[in-house]
This record gives sequence, structure tokens and C-alpha cells, in this order.
Amino acid sequence: DPRIQKISSAIRVIPDFPKPGIMFQDITTLLLDTKAFRDTIDLFVERYKDKNISVVAGIEARGFIFGPPIALAIGAKFVPMRKPNKLPGEVISEEYSLEYGTDKMEMHVGAVEAGERALIIDDLIATGGTLCAAIRLLERVGVHVVECACVIELPELKGRDRLGDKPLFVLVDGA
Ligand code: 5GP
Repeated sequence: DPRIQKISSAIRVIPDFPKPGIMFQDITTLLLDTKAFRDTIDLFVERYKDKNISVVAGIEARGFIFGPPIALAIGAKFVPMRKPNKLPGEVISEEYSLEYGTDKMEMHVGAVEAGERALIIDDLIATGGTLCAAIRLLERVGVHVVECACVIELPELKGRDRLGDKPLFVLVDGA
């Protein structure tokens, strides 16, 4: 698809952020390119519009940028998957491991119902730990996770393998 190259070029790579040795994939420059940003959303919408998806679950923070326009376009609801103690209502939470220590992801009780079909959206998959936590959270309440989708994959980190047989769709590979 000719749109992919433009999307890839619109993502800026910032070396040594947030710490030395990390090549940070910065999607804020993609958001400045109105054509590439629209193409990004369109590519996801084209893939998911006829898949009977009722929930787009977006992961804080950059899943909140890409998730809502996709949800609106495919006629699904948007459900935020948040960092701990941000959601005001009753939540269910799932712990996951980071390089150092653990983190938690939370979702509002009642946001989804058993039997619904969900798409999980984030900007980037690295080790896959974040997406795994989101999958567990949704599956615990009986939701069928149809696929995970990211703009960028860092293939060397093999996050895709960690998702097991859960399908992962990405637009571009990061450096
Ligand atoms: P993982 O759990 O797959 O190791 O890490 C993925 C999470 O970290 C995503 O929520 C993503 O937003 C964030 N992340 C890690 N590295 C980068 C990066 O280089 N660029 C961006 N935009 N996000 C990153």
C-alpha cells in the first residue's frame, strides 16, 4: 500500500529518549501530517469496518489518540484502558511486569459486556507486555478480543510471540 511509506516517514525517531540507548518512536509528528494521520486511521477502518466489532479498547496514552476516530468510523464504542487510579468509577485491574517492577492497567466495570467483540489499539508494541495485560483484562469479563492493532512494531523485541495466537496487525516496523 503506497500510504504506508508516507506514514513511516512521518514518524520521528528520537535517540536516547527517555533514557540512553532507547530510539523513541515519536508519533506526534505523524499527527502533524494531516494526510498521513488520516491514512493511518483509514487503514485501520478499512480492515475492521466489517468485522462486527462493538468495542475499541484504547491503551493510555497514545491508544487514546488513534482509538476514538477508528471507533466512530466503525460504529463501535470506545473504552479507555488506563493507568492505575485514574478512572473514577469501580474498576477491574490487571498487573503486568515492566523492565523494573510492575504496573497496572484498569478498566471500568460495566464498560463492556460478556460476548462483545473487541479490537485493542495502541501506538506501538515493544515487548508485548502492555497488550497482554489488556487482553487478559477483557477476556476476564468474557469479551472476545478479535485482534490487537498498533501503528508501529519493534520486531526485534518479539512482542508478537508473547501474544501467542492472538492476531496482531501493524502498519510499520520501527527502527
Ligand atoms: P510493551 O509493553 O510492548 O513493552 O511497550 C509498549 C508500550 O510502551 C506502549 O503503550 C507504547 O506506547 C509504549 N512505548 C514503548 N516504547 C515506545 C516508543 O519508542 N515510542 C512510543 N510512542 N511508545 C513507546
